[in-house]
Amino acid sequence: MKKGMLIVVSAPSGCGKGTILAEILKDPGYYYSVSATTRAPREGEVDGKHYHFLTKEQFEALIAEDKMLEYAQYCDNFYGTPLPPITEKLEQGKNVILEIEVQGALQVMKKCPDAVSIFIKPPSVQALRERLINRGTESLEVIEKRVAEAEFEIPIAAQYQYNIVNDNLEDAIADFRAVVRAEECKVRKD
Ligand code: 5GP
Repeated sequence: MKKGMLIVVSAPSGCGKGTILAEILKDPGYYYSVSATTRAPREGEVDGKHYHFLTKEQFEALIAEDKMLEYAQYCDNFYGTPLPPITEKLEQGKNVILEIEVQGALQVMKKCPDAVSIFIKPPSVQALRERLINRGTESLEVIEKRVAEAEFEIPIAAQYQYNIVNDNLEDAIADFRAVVRAEECKVRKD
């Protein structure tokens, strides 16, 4: 059976990435990798669905056991990708989506040269700040931290294979599907 594609997706928080991926994931050919994190759950977040919410000790144990494909520190918390489910789903032919920040994404691109990398950009930093304020899930202090993080991340977008600007949601979803379609049609030389 044809193996699935590993798709690394990064975007500053508040870019509409969650909405785009929710649409993409309606297709059963995709599997969303549930990350581990030491951050506290937000209202409505479910353990094992949105994240595996771990203590720092539990997180470090997974690293020590070599069970993380990558991990990184972001805004004072650790985030990482548990490896075993990814290997299993790729073998089953599923396209696996990793929704991770840039440091982790760069690690995956290095370790897995076949991975497809996509960076979703906001139309502007100001648009991003407004979306975060409207979302209302973070304090102003956390929002400013995340905006600063976005200003650091956006230039790194050039190191990804594909950049999608989320100016219009329907277009961004169509662009995402087009990238995956093209990658599926790509001639592999190995
Ligand atoms: P949030 O706290 O908003 O859920 O996520 C903060 C950032 O951490 C986002 O950019 C998200 O994509 C990233 N992130 C989530 N899971 C992982 C992961 O497993 N590894 C890495 N490196 N980043 C992650």
